[in-house]
Amino acid sequence: MFVAHHNRSLTRRLSEQYLLFGLSGLFFFTVSAVYLSWHGSLLQSIPAAVGIPLVFLLLGSFVLRRTSYWHENIERQLTHFANSEDHSVTELRPLPATDALAAGWNQLLARILEHSAWNGVERRLSEAVDTQQAKRWEAVFQDLTDGIAVCNSDGRITQLNRSFATLLQRPDSKNLVGMDITDLLLGLADENSQEQIRGLGNNHATQVLEIQKSADPSQGVYRLSRTMHTGDSGGPADSIWTLRDVTQQKLAEKAREQFVFTATHELRTPLANIRAYSETLALASDIPFEQQQSFYNIINNEATRLARFVDELLNISQMEAGAITIQKHEVQLERLLSEVLESQRPVATEKKQSFDSVFAPKLPKLMADKDKLAAALTNLISNAIKYTPVGGKVTLRVDADTTRILFLVEDSGIGISADDLPKLCGKFFRSGDERVQAEVGSGLGLAFAQEVARLHGGSISIRSQLNQGSCFTLELPIR
Ligand code: ADP
Repeated sequence: MFVAHHNRSLTRRLSEQYLLFGLSGLFFFTVSAVYLSWHGSLLQSIPAAVGIPLVFLLLGSFVLRRTSYWHENIERQLTHFANSEDHSVTELRPLPATDALAAGWNQLLARILEHSAWNGVERRLSEAVDTQQAKRWEAVFQDLTDGIAVCNSDGRITQLNRSFATLLQRPDSKNLVGMDITDLLLGLADENSQEQIRGLGNNHATQVLEIQKSADPSQGVYRLSRTMHTGDSGGPADSIWTLRDVTQQKLAEKAREQFVFTATHELRTPLANIRAYSETLALASDIPFEQQQSFYNIINNEATRLARFVDELLNISQMEAGAITIQKHEVQLERLLSEVLESQRPVATEKKQSFDSVFAPKLPKLMADKDKLAAALTNLISNAIKYTPVGGKVTLRVDADTTRILFLVEDSGIGISADDLPKLCGKFFRSGDERVQAEVGSGLGLAFAQEVARLHGGSISIRSQLNQGSCFTLELPIR
């Protein structure tokens, strides 16, 4: 009967068992009472009549206790599980029994443990993936070349990357957390830009500013943007700030503008002169001979100027493309120097300048590209003449030791300011000094000369003092 009722509920099974034992006790009690009253010995048989049902009841309660023992155990474990804080399934224990209830509990427990083991693995895996991803994003955030900072609604920094701190020239990036971003940015801005930063207001639209440290863009120009960000909770808005150093871009833009200006001027002016003088010569028949000669000279000079500018442009574009090469041969140094000097002497004479050369007693043999070296030296000497006032002094010195040769071009000219000095060899750079602007020039000659020096394994160094004069030194290795 018990086996047949495996699928019944525990309560029902217990009540059936009690009923069965109770009925059995009653049955034996009734049978005993009838039998004993029949034989007239009821009184003597009372102990047996009570004892037999008692034995049955004891037996029944023992069997029931054994069945309910596992029930209680399960109940205890579940109560403990429900009351525990972490609800850990690992504290549930299997039962050391083989009956249906214990076997079912053990199977259920095995399933739960198996599940929770997988869940644990999955959770740990997903935590590991999350940590990995968070680390990757943090690395990306930190390595961005643009500076990024996040501020709370009070404008205080809550998060920033390394670039932001570097652009603010504050390597102690951790100390910047909690600081007012406006205060920090004001340090990067001149008066004009400071006003723009203060005027950002609380506008929710993304704001982009270009701020600069001083009127001279080479000191630093930055593109600053601010975006307001309201979180999901709709609380007060955070702001996200980005900062990018656009100094080089700004300088390149300036150089391009300078180039367009120079190129237009350098092409237009000689062309306009050539056109005007040739038209005059073609149309007027009564121009005196000397005047005609002078007009032809002007046309010739302007054509030469045009050709020189086009050559410089070609050189520079070759340089840009990395296509400029040198052919090294043994150079007849004295001859090369004398050709360069003689080509420039007439201009120096015209400006009544003293024009000298001082060579070391014995010049070494030099392996170099003759034409390119001549062009570089010509440029240094013609600059010295050009930027030295009438009556000044220009000298070419040539010194050498066993490993290198030095060409020093000295002048007593207008000199170069300390600000301009580092920019001199940049393409299209021309000083803003009005004495420079008054002269014709493209800003390409020094860049070219420096490239020639570099291709020979040498360099150009400059010493100068404003209003005192300059010394340009072209240094080349001998072999
Ligand atoms: P440019 O055609 O303008 O002379 P360069 O490239 O030869 O171009 O020179 C660049 C700038 O360097 C000049 O515009 C000038 O400002 C400065 N410079 C060059 N040589 C001298 C010099 N001897 N004295 C003063 N300034 C000079």
